[in-house]
Amino acid sequence: MSVLIRGVRLDGKNVDIYCEDDRITEIGSVSVEADHVIDGSDKAAIPGLVNTHTHAAMTLFRSHGNDLPLMTWLSEKIWPIEAHLNADDIYWGTRLACLEMIKTGTTAFNDMYYHVGATARAVDDSGIRGVISAVFFNMLDTGDIDAAIKGMTDQVNEIRSVGCDRAVPALGPHAPYTVSDEALGAIGDLSEKEDLLVHFHLAETEKEINDYKERTGEYLVPRMEEIGLLSPRMIAAHSVWVSPEDLDIMARNGVTASHCPISNMKLSVGRALPYPEMMARGIPVTLGTDGCASNNDLDMFETMKFAALLQKHATNDPTALPAHEALLMATRAGAAALSIDTGEIVVGRKADIVLIDLKRPEMVPGHDLVSNIVYSANGSCVNTTICDGQVLMMDRIVEGEAEVLQKAAEAANDLFCRE
Ligand SMILES: [Zn+2]
Repeated sequence: MSVLIRGVRLDGKNVDIYCEDDRITEIGSVSVEADHVIDGSDKAAIPGLVNTHTHAAMTLFRSHGNDLPLMTWLSEKIWPIEAHLNADDIYWGTRLACLEMIKTGTTAFNDMYYHVGATARAVDDSGIRGVISAVFFNMLDTGDIDAAIKGMTDQVNEIRSVGCDRAVPALGPHAPYTVSDEALGAIGDLSEKEDLLVHFHLAETEKEINDYKERTGEYLVPRMEEIGLLSPRMIAAHSVWVSPEDLDIMARNGVTASHCPISNMKLSVGRALPYPEMMARGIPVTLGTDGCASNNDLDMFETMKFAALLQKHATNDPTALPAHEALLMATRAGAAALSIDTGEIVVGRKADIVLIDLKRPEMVPGHDLVSNIVYSANGSCVNTTICDGQVLMMDRIVEGEAEVLQKAAEAANDLFCRE
């Protein structure tokens, strides 16, 4: 399978981009034939966007239980219904998430949720990339760590058994307030032994930090380092309530932050990610939407804009987090965090390419393409989405879209009647 994009805007020039199988093999003036030729005129090419914090199947909870405090929302609105989720719900909820991501230019996501085999099948059938971690809770029970680790290993094997190389297994301990330190330490060891990414919620709220101190007598982030959970394999969602000492610890352990500005603002976590302090220490910062129940969508264009605006607002400095940095966070930094060979449109990289329609009102005039992308565009300005060399959407049409919408709506209705 080969794809040729003719005459597309890339880094200020009009070029042809040629992809052979899953790789970008030529950029410039290309004269070879291709199986699939796309007219790139009036379109700009950017790398497929990378969403580093999702609970994909939570699309089924979209707009359920809004305008509530975090713990009330989780314990009264989300957890009671989540208890009834089955693999079929997860499959269609994830298909809906993948559909929304394809339609808004995201080609890879970092997920944490239940029934990982169903998530892997949804990734396989949708055509995008997913790093899939089994969510793990033990509600601070210190018993049977071996059984917990076996449960996680079984789920890693379940993802692998789907046989899709775009579906990558990872480990997903939920948070310091739902997983015991003993289990977290064992998960850190497993991650090192099996070279698996760890997807974790860290320092989302001030209450979480204070509760941890009260319960254990220790500071959260230093303790996570001590038990061996922190490493370059760690993607720490939120990382908002971190002190300068915590930031030094994140930096020396190579931890990546997944910043979720919309979820943080919606759930009022009470302060902004300390982005300038992270930059000063070289901590990689990527972007995530969080689940659809706390966002309520998966549009990374919106997330890039909110990330930039939140920093400007919080620091009282309009030069903070400029547009080009927001775009790099959503592309190059995200791909590096997930260890996938995408995030840049250069020869040799995997062919994850998004074409933006420059004839959309939001994109006219074209004084500054990157500023238009971050501050003006939204996901519906995406015309074409290519992942792994396969055209998943062209002229905004995704194959099988109607079925996904119908089945996901049915799954959600059925789930909410099951209580
Ligand atoms: Zn989350």
